[in-house]
Amino acid sequence: MKILEGKTALVTGASKGIGRAIALKYAEEGANVAFTYLSSVEKGQALEEELKAFGVQAKGYRSDASDYTAAEELVASVISDFGGLNVLVNNAGITKDNLIMRMTEEMWDDVINVNLKSCFNTVKAVARTFMKQKVGSIINITSVVGVKGNAGQANYAASKAGIIGLTKSVALELGSRNVRCNAVAPGFIETEMTEVLDPKTVQSWRDAIPMKRGGQPDEVANCCVFLASDMSSYISGQVIHVDGALLT
Ligand code: NAP
Repeated sequence: MKILEGKTALVTGASKGIGRAIALKYAEEGANVAFTYLSSVEKGQALEEELKAFGVQAKGYRSDASDYTAAEELVASVISDFGGLNVLVNNAGITKDNLIMRMTEEMWDDVINVNLKSCFNTVKAVARTFMKQKVGSIINITSVVGVKGNAGQANYAASKAGIIGLTKSVALELGSRNVRCNAVAPGFIETEMTEVLDPKTVQSWRDAIPMKRGGQPDEVANCCVFLASDMSSYISGQVIHVDGALLT
């Protein structure tokens, strides 16, 4: 039996990068997968077919993670389309970097809304169902930057630190109903986003990592498979780093 057989997961922001890798690993491990995208419509539609090839139920939804009402509608649609839901992965995220002196109010609000408020939106939308069924695993993708801070990313670091506070609080509030909530903190993961960067800059990042390489989206996805599965049934309120010992 596959490790996620019988589970239905919702992964936000799965059209590319880490979210896409999580959705694919989940399907490979037997979960039915609902996922969202926003601007990458073609990639989102293509992913739905790739997931179905694993023989599981899969459906993509175009939904803005920062929109509270949209999250309520999304979760209701997923539960109706799939007949239930027991895993939520909050992965959708953006960056709008600048030094604090040059950061605009809009850059601050956009990053907080897409990265942090989005987690509140979906957690709120699934909470009643997860509590009632006395089972659920919530996985929030934070970042090492949320633990350590990063010059030029005050908005992003604040959003990711906020996710850690939210994660620990939800774990405390919902633990008695067997609902778990954990955060995954990736370090430097090589995605499409990093492919377009100056190779010298990317190499200097790799050199600073004790394991001397960037991580792959699949390596974050494997951790998310574990946290979604019953193998992690007594793990809640934790922040698991997937960073090649960067923050050790
Ligand atoms: P990515 O390749 O840029 O993918 C981001 C995903 O989020 C896309 O699927 C995008 O969908 C979606 N998204 C963005 N805004 C959205 C919105 N308002 N509503 C719904 N979906 C939205 O980024 P990534 O590198 O895979 O990062 C994924 C997560 O890991 C993020 O939370 C990020 O902060 C975190 N993380 C990444 C790294 C890294 O090194 N890559 C390190 C630490 C943490 P559309 O394109 O369809 O809009």
